[in-house]
Order: sequence, then structure tokens, then C-alpha cells
Amino acid sequence: MGKSPTRSRNRFEWESELVISLHQCITRASVKRYIFDVRVWGEEELEKYSVNSAYKCLARKANGTQQEVFDILWKASAFPSVLTTTWRVLLDRIPTREGLYRRGVQVTSTECGLCRSEEESSKHLFIECVYAQRVWSICQRWLGITLVQHNEIKNHFESFQCSQASVKQNQVWKGIWAAVVRCIWDQRNTILFKQGVVDVEEILQMTQLKSWSWLKHRTKSFNYSFADWTLNPGICIERL
Ligand SMILES: [Zn+2]
Repeated sequence: MGKSPTRSRNRFEWESELVISLHQCITRASVKRYIFDVRVWGEEELEKYSVNSAYKCLARKANGTQQEVFDILWKASAFPSVLTTTWRVLLDRIPTREGLYRRGVQVTSTECGLCRSEEESSKHLFIECVYAQRVWSICQRWLGITLVQHNEIKNHFESFQCSQASVKQNQVWKGIWAAVVRCIWDQRNTILFKQGVVDVEEILQMTQLKSWSWLKHRTKSFNYSFADWTLNPGICIERL
């Protein structure tokens, strides 16, 4: 008999959210004697796992107007990990401190990890926070655009596009939006868990790197250097 595993440290706040989800998931299951365990995939119809079936499963969870937002999101030009973070933000399922508190998780504080003065909801952290606003502002300056600042996350995401641009070009715009959100989230986690400091220029640089890496590796017609991308993103997108 092996020793039972012991926990070596307290859980981080974001891990507590996962534990709650796990509990919610396993309490629905009933254990039956004399029946072998099997792995199954699919909530309504049992099927073999594929990326396509996972997409359909995620799409089923969205509904109504949300569906349109997610259709746009999953086609955006960004890495899957970036899109997954954005998907959680749009669903308000990202474990912000206010979100965790609302779900009954004990948190040491609900204050925003960036400004440390307001409550850290998704809307605050990614849109309303003074630092988030600075990030969006320098990001728009980099892209050479001026957009109306929406206070709702979904509206903010939907409006981040160019009316004259092609579908493919707008997928790049959406990918940049997703990269900004992911980089804000990464920096917030670095500040909270590794004692980092807020640096809006760094958030922009990480956004530029993430969006450029995706285009460089996934788009044949994109032959621009990172310097081209940081200096003239509009021209690089226009010529896609
Ligand atoms: Zn804040």
C-alpha cells in the first residue's frame, strides 16, 4: 500500500475555482458496484473525442446573441490558449477575486490586482481599470485607430474591428483583442503570485509578440519581421 498523497501547500485562488468545478462535476456521478469504469466523451451523444466535437460542445454551452460572439471568437487569429482565456472572460468565468468571492471561495481580498483600489470583477480588470484603459489606449495608438470605448466586455470585443477590412483582416483584429486580454491576465497573475509590478508597456509588447507569432506561424502571406509588425501593424494587416 502506498502512502496517501499529502498537500504540500495551500491552493492559489485560481485553483480553488477548479476544485469547486470538480466537486460540482463529481457530485452528479453515482458509483455502481460490479461495473467497470470507462472513459466517455460527449454530454448528450457519446462520441469519439475530436477537436470538432469539442468545438460543438463549447458552442452548445453558448446561446442566443452569445453564439454570434463565440462564432467570431473561435475564428480569431490567436493561439488556442489565448482564445480559451478570452472565452472564459466573455462568459465571466475567469477566476477574478470578485468572481471567486461571488462563488463562495474564501479570498484574502477582492481588490483589483492591478490598481489595488477597486473590486476586481472581469469588467473592471479588463475594461474599466485605469491600467486596462492605458493598455487599450496605447494599443489603439500602436494600431493607428480610435474606437469608442464600450463598458461591456462583449461590446468592447465586438467593436474592436475595422469596417472597411475583410473578414480575414478582422479576424486579426479580434486576435489582437484576445491577446491584449490574455496579456492583462498574465500580468495580473505575475503581480499577485510572483510580486511583479504593473507595466502597461510590457503588456503591449507581449501582445505584439503573441499576435506576431501567430501570424508568422499560421499565415503564409505574412512575411513581416517583428520590427515591421511593431512599427506598421496597419500595413501588415492591410496586405494580408
Ligand atoms: Zn483595477
